[in-house]
Amino acid sequence: MKHLAIHGGTPVAVGQFIETAWPPVCEATAEKLKQLYLSRAWSFNSPKEQEFEQAFAAYHGAKHGIFMANGTVTLECALTALGIGPGDEVIVPALTWIATAAAVKYVGAKVVFADIDPLTAALAPAAFEAQITTRTKAVIPVHLYGGMADLDHIIAIAQKHHLAVVEDCAHMQGGKWRGRGVGAWGDVGSFSFQQSKTLSGGESGICLTNDDKLAELLYRTKHIGYSRYDQQGQAGTPPPSGLLCHNYRGLAFPAQILLDQLDELPALLDRYNAFTDRLRELTGDIAGFRVQAPGRMASPQGYYACGLIFDGSEWHGIPKARFLQALRAEGIMGINGTYGPAYKHLLFNLHEKDYRNSGCPTAERLSERMLVLMHWHMSHRANADALASAIHKIADNRKELHEC
Ligand SMILES: *Cc1c(COP(=O)(O)O)cnc(C)c1O
Repeated sequence: MKHLAIHGGTPVAVGQFIETAWPPVCEATAEKLKQLYLSRAWSFNSPKEQEFEQAFAAYHGAKHGIFMANGTVTLECALTALGIGPGDEVIVPALTWIATAAAVKYVGAKVVFADIDPLTAALAPAAFEAQITTRTKAVIPVHLYGGMADLDHIIAIAQKHHLAVVEDCAHMQGGKWRGRGVGAWGDVGSFSFQQSKTLSGGESGICLTNDDKLAELLYRTKHIGYSRYDQQGQAGTPPPSGLLCHNYRGLAFPAQILLDQLDELPALLDRYNAFTDRLRELTGDIAGFRVQAPGRMASPQGYYACGLIFDGSEWHGIPKARFLQALRAEGIMGINGTYGPAYKHLLFNLHEKDYRNSGCPTAERLSERMLVLMHWHMSHRANADALASAIHKIADNRKELHEC
């Protein structure tokens, strides 16, 4: 007799796992959006954008926030403001969304992939240091899924080699490391508020920085050269010669949505952190299985997803697609594979001359051994219980997955 639901057994989590819709909506925000619409203050560094910039920067302990169209142009503007361009190299982790690498190409620099740490799934400090050359100008650590990059070591290495640090915090709104918000540690922190992210404005993004000069350059870069101190339509001073300026402006509407969500963020992150604590506790005895980043998390940790890693020899011969199917059959929703190594993504199409990949075996191996549960399913404690039951059941009946 077969036990796993994938083979006709009774699903263990059906009726237990609570599905959640994302992004969240609320009537009070809808009313504010209506008022904002009627106010005509939609763009051009509107009061709502400024209010959000200040609130988000203050939350993370950064001096400046520069609101933009999305979390890809924030990375691009960060590199532009730091003076990075053709002839330069920028190191990025192999496991990330392709935008991290694309931003480097947008400024004409060369993308250099470095391997990840198997515990955090983020950039490995030693792998980063090994890729530094005389052309290297910056590194972009990514706080990925439910883990964070080792900021202390990465920043120390960057300082030793006089490199800029741009934190890609698209997955980690609200996370704090040693009391200071992520994104406020590097020279620039970049956040995305795309629809699936932990704070969701539909689209938009923000750069954080503590550096007054960089803040002004970031502003000019996203607003076609205007200074923050200019009136719209009345340029007072020119941007620095050659600075590549764009129209990457944000809008007041997502800023309003995000302001309301920011109020709820601490409570949301509390629930997400409680979820992983519970899942870790309930699955601690499953051989060869772990939840991403044990003992290496921020407080609170920010989450885009909860990383589920089954890389022990116990799971040898069970492909991730099989494990995924088995989990879905047990009634678990919202589980996906990772992005995989960026240079292998279907949408990644940089020419070989535009990037260097000296081999990233940990990213390649972990990509085959890691699944992620999207963050909005982490709001319910019941879901941690359901997921743990499903993983236990699959582990106990692992042999059934080998058989076909
Ligand atoms: C979402 C994301 C981005 C890009 O953000 P967009 O707002 O979608 O442009 C960059 N880096 C990472 C790691 C992301 O997940």
